Amino acid sequence: MRYSDELIEEIRSKNDIVDVIGGYVHLQKKGSTYFGLCPFHNEKTASFSVTPSKQMYYCFGCHKGGNVITFLMEYENYSFQEAMAALAEKAGVELPEPDQAQADRSRDILRKRMLEVNKEAAKYYAYLLRSPKGEPGINYLKGRGLTDDTLNRFGLGFADVSSDSLVRYLVSKGYDDQLLIDAGLAVFDEKSGLHDRFWNRVMYPIMDANNRVIGFGGRVMGDAKPKYLNSRETFVFDKSRNLYGLNLARSSRTDYFILCEGYMDVIAMHQAGFNMAVASLGTAFTSGQATLLRRFVRKVYLAYDSDQAGIDAALKAIAVFRDMDMNCRIINMEPHKDPDEFIKTLGKEEFQKRIDDAEDGFFFELRIMARDYDLKAPDSRSEFTYRVVDKLLGFEDEIKRENYLIAAADRYAIPVDQLKREIIKRAAQGRKVTYDSPRSGIQKAVTNEELILKKQRNLITWLSEDPSIFSVVKKYIEPSDFTDPLYAEVVRQLFADLERNGEPRPAAIISTFDDEADQSRVAELFNTSLVLDADNDKAHALHDVIYMVKKSAVEARSASDVVDAESITRQMNDKKALEELRKTTITL
Ligand SMILES: [Zn+2]
Repeated sequence: MRYSDELIEEIRSKNDIVDVIGGYVHLQKKGSTYFGLCPFHNEKTASFSVTPSKQMYYCFGCHKGGNVITFLMEYENYSFQEAMAALAEKAGVELPEPDQAQADRSRDILRKRMLEVNKEAAKYYAYLLRSPKGEPGINYLKGRGLTDDTLNRFGLGFADVSSDSLVRYLVSKGYDDQLLIDAGLAVFDEKSGLHDRFWNRVMYPIMDANNRVIGFGGRVMGDAKPKYLNSRETFVFDKSRNLYGLNLARSSRTDYFILCEGYMDVIAMHQAGFNMAVASLGTAFTSGQATLLRRFVRKVYLAYDSDQAGIDAALKAIAVFRDMDMNCRIINMEPHKDPDEFIKTLGKEEFQKRIDDAEDGFFFELRIMARDYDLKAPDSRSEFTYRVVDKLLGFEDEIKRENYLIAAADRYAIPVDQLKREIIKRAAQGRKVTYDSPRSGIQKAVTNEELILKKQRNLITWLSEDPSIFSVVKKYIEPSDFTDPLYAEVVRQLFADLERNGEPRPAAIISTFDDEADQSRVAELFNTSLVLDADNDKAHALHDVIYMVKKSAVEARSASDVVDAESITRQMNDKKALEELRKTTITL
C-alpha cells in the first residue's frame, strides 16, 4: 500500500516537526534550531536537534535523523503505514483505502498480521477465562484479590487444559499455521503436530506503549514448571524495548514511575491506585528499557522483592540507571516480600509513605555493601572506604559526585578529605592511562575520502540553508559530481526543487528513501555544521567548497575511465574546466 508522493508530502507538510517532536522530547530553542536530549541514545548533554526551516531532526551524537514521519516510526515503533495514519489524523486529512494490490512493504504486512493474531488470541483467552473452562483461572485471580475492573483493564485471560484450542480457534478465523508459529502462539513437532504454546495458564497479554498486544506471559495453575512462561521474542516483541504496564503508566501524569519485578506486582499496584507501576518482562532490567522509561520520566522508584534475589536485581538496576544519569530510589518493602503482599496487609496509605521515604539508590548500595564489613575494625573499615571511593567514581558529574561524597562521609563517619584525596589520586591514574593511548591514530583514521565527502555534505547543507547560492553553484557543479550515489540522488532532487521555485524541501527528500539507514544518512547531509567566517568571506569560502567538490569529481572520473580517445578528450576538458574554476573569482 504505497501512497502517492503528493499525499505523503501533504501529510508531512501539515505536521510541523517541532510540534510533533515537542510532544515527546523536551526541546529548547537555540537560535533557529531546537535542541533536546536524544530519545534514541543515552546522553547527558543535548545533541538532538530539530530544525523548523528544514522540518528535520538530526542527532549529532548517534547520527539518527529524518523527518516527522520517520520520527514516529522510530520513536513509537510504528510502521510507515501507522505513522502516516497517525499524522493524517492529526492534520485532519483522510487517507484513501490502502490498495492491497499495490502492497510492496511486506514487513509492514507481516507486522500487521502478527499484531492482529495476537489481539485475536488475547480476545480468545479473555473469553475462556469467563467460560466454565476458565474456572481455575478465575479462582486464582479472585483469590489474589483482583476485581472485575482490573481483569478487564489488563485484558487477563486463560489458556485451558486442551492442547490445541487456541490453534483451532485461530485457524477457524483464517490465520495460517506459519503465522501462529511465527507469532509464538503455537509450536509444531512431529509427534503432536501443531499445538498451543500456552495451556493451563492464566494469561497476561503484554502490550506495547500504544496498547497493541505484542506477546503474552502465562502463569501455570498448580505447581508445574516453569511457573511463568513468556512469549519468545518475535518480529513485534522485543523484550529489551518494552515494559509491562507502560501503556497505562504513560498516562499516569506523575513525574516518576515505579518499577516492579513481576506482572502481578504491577496489577496489584494499579488496582491500589498506583497507576505509574511498570515491570520488565521476565528478564533483568536493561539499558534499552531505561532509555524507554526516560522518554516519560526522569525519576524511578524500585519496588523489588525484599529477598536476596530482589536485592541483587535492584543493585543491577541501580547501576543501569546511574549510567543513564537517572535518579532511582528504593522502596523498603519490609517486613513483606513484595508490593502485592505489602498493600494487602498494610494498605495503600502505608505504601505511599514508603514511597515518600524511599532510599536513594546510592545509599542503598552502600548500606548493602556495608553488611560485609566490620566497620569497627580498622582493616575492614579501610577496605570499605576504598569501595566507597570506587562507587563515587561511578558518578561522571562532578557536582553530583561531590554531593554524594559529602553525604557518604557524613553517614559513615569517614573524613571528607580522605575521600577527596583518594578520588583525586584515582582520577589522576585514570587520566594517565588515557594519555598512553596513541592520539594520532584518531586523526589518521579520517581519510582523504572522508574529507571529500565532508565537503560534499557542507555544500548540500549550505544550499539548503542559503538557496541564493544556487545560481552560482549550478554553473560549476552537477549532481553526478557527488561521488556517493546517495549524495548524488539527494542533490538531483535538491537541484530540481531549487530550479522549480527556489525552495529546498529536505524533509520531502527524506521520504523518497525507504531504508531507515538511508533516511538517517540523508538527514546528515542537511545537518553539517558550516564554519563560515565573516560575511565578506562567504564568496571565498563558497569558491573553496565548489572547487574541492569539482576537483574530487574530476579525479574520481579520471581514475575510473578506461583509456580510449574519447575519455582522454573528456579528461582534458575536465582538467581545463577545473583550472578555469580555480582562477575564477566568485561574486555573490
Ligand atoms: Zn542520538
